[in-house]
Amino acid sequence: DYLTRIAENAHLNAFTEVYADEARQRADELDGRRAENPVRIGRLHGMVIGLKDVLSHAGHGLQAGSHILSGFTAQFTATAVERLLAEDAIIIGRQNCDEFAMGSSNESSAFGVVRNAADPERVPGGSSGGSAVAVQAGLCLASIGSDTGGSVRQPAAFCGVVGLKPTYGRISRWGLVAYASSFDCIGPIANTPADVALLLEVMAGADEFDSTVSTRPVAAYSQATLPSLASGGRPVRVAYLIDGVESEGVSPDIRRATQGAIDRLLAAGHVVEPVSLSLLKYLLPTYYILTTAEASSNLSRFDGVRYGHRAQPASGAQTDLVEMYKQSRTEGFGPEVRKRILLGTFALSASYYDAYYTKAQQVRRLVRDETERVFANYDFLLTPTTPGSAFRLGEKSDHTAETDPLQMYLADIFTVQANVTGYPAISIPNGTDSNGLPIGIQLMAPPFAEESLIAMAERMF
Ligand code: GLN
Repeated sequence: DYLTRIAENAHLNAFTEVYADEARQRADELDGRRAENPVRIGRLHGMVIGLKDVLSHAGHGLQAGSHILSGFTAQFTATAVERLLAEDAIIIGRQNCDEFAMGSSNESSAFGVVRNAADPERVPGGSSGGSAVAVQAGLCLASIGSDTGGSVRQPAAFCGVVGLKPTYGRISRWGLVAYASSFDCIGPIANTPADVALLLEVMAGADEFDSTVSTRPVAAYSQATLPSLASGGRPVRVAYLIDGVESEGVSPDIRRATQGAIDRLLAAGHVVEPVSLSLLKYLLPTYYILTTAEASSNLSRFDGVRYGHRAQPASGAQTDLVEMYKQSRTEGFGPEVRKRILLGTFALSASYYDAYYTKAQQVRRLVRDETERVFANYDFLLTPTTPGSAFRLGEKSDHTAETDPLQMYLADIFTVQANVTGYPAISIPNGTDSNGLPIGIQLMAPPFAEESLIAMAERMF
C-alpha cells in the first residue's frame, strides 16, 4: 500500500531511495514471526518508517542530500535506527532533505526540490522536508528527521503533521550526520502526538556511543496523561509569546490561529498569559554564528579522501593534495553549504573569534537564563511554529538581488530558541490559512519534560 502511494506521488520527490524488496521481505518476516508467537512482537511491529538522508543505516546509501557523499554507503547503523529495528519497524526508504540539513525549504538538496502535498507549487519546509511530506501524503506512517534549528517542527507545520524535537541529549546522535553538534537532535514526525511519543520512547535513552546523551530513565511517553481539571488536576500554566499574536512579521492568519488556540486553553480553565523575550531579536544571529562555526568544523572531514566524491585532476596535470581537497569540496558542496562553511570559518578565525564566536556563546547563555525564568512561572511556552505558512518554490531561495537570504532564515524565528537552549518542543497542526495551507502551533517545555509536553500536545491536538 505504501509502496504504491510512493510511486503515485513520485512528483513530490520525498524519497531519494525506496527499499521496496527489502521492505516487503521484512514485512513477510514480521508476519511470520507474529504467526509463530503473537504475544512476543515489538512495540513498532510492522510500523512503516522513512529515514531522513542523514541517518546511518548499514549497507544503505547515505548522502545528507549532497553530491560530496555520492556513492557513499553507511558502515554502521545509527543507535536510534537500531532501536526502531529492534522493535520490529520496517524501514521503507531514505528521504530527501536540504544539503547537510541546512535550510528551511528543502530546495538545497542535490536530489532536487521536494514539493508540499497540499500545493505542489509550494515548499514543504526544511530541512526534513521529504520526511514531513512522506507522512503528509501517506507514503509511510512516520519519519525520523533531525532538528538543529527547527528542521523537524517547521516542515511538520508546513505539512500539517506532528513533529517533536526532544531535549538535547534525549536521543543518541550516534550515526547522525553532524551539522552543528551542540544543537543537533533526532526527532520523529508522525500523524499524531501518540505516534511521536511511541517513537521517542523507543529511540530515547543512554548509549555508550554518544557521550552527550542523557542517562536519565526513559518514561512511558506514549502513556503520558495530564490529570484533567474535572478530576482534580491543577490548571496548566501556559505562557504565550506576545509576538506570536501581535508581531507584524507574523501572517494575520497565523496570528488569528494562535489566538484561537489561546482562547480554547482559556475556555478550558487554564492559566494563559503573555510574555515577551527581550533577546528574541538575537536568537537568529546567535544561532547562525554558532551553527555555521560548528558546521565549518564538522564538514572539514569531507576532503575527497575519506568519503564520497573526489575531484579528478585534469589529464596531464600534476596532482597536488591541497588542490585536490579544494577541488573536491568546490565540486561536492552546494552554494548554501559553501556559504555556511565560509561564514563559520570567518567567525572562528583568530582575529574575529572573540567578537563573534565568544560573544554568541555568551548570548546563548543569556537566552537560556531568560528561558529558564519563563519556566519558573509556567509549564509551557506557546508560539506559532512559523511566522508564515508554506511559501512558493523559489520565493525565498533564488539568490538574486531581489531576494534577501535572511528572509529564509526568519522562517525559524520561533523554533531556534529550543535548540539554542536545548529545551524540548513539539509542533502540532492548528488549522489552515486562507489558502487552505496548514498552520502549526508550537509548545516548548523545560528540559526532560517530554511526558507533560506530549500529554499537553495530545490534549490540544
Ligand atoms: N533552517 C535552519 C538552518 O538552516 C534549521 C535547520 C535544521 O534544523 N537542520 O540551519
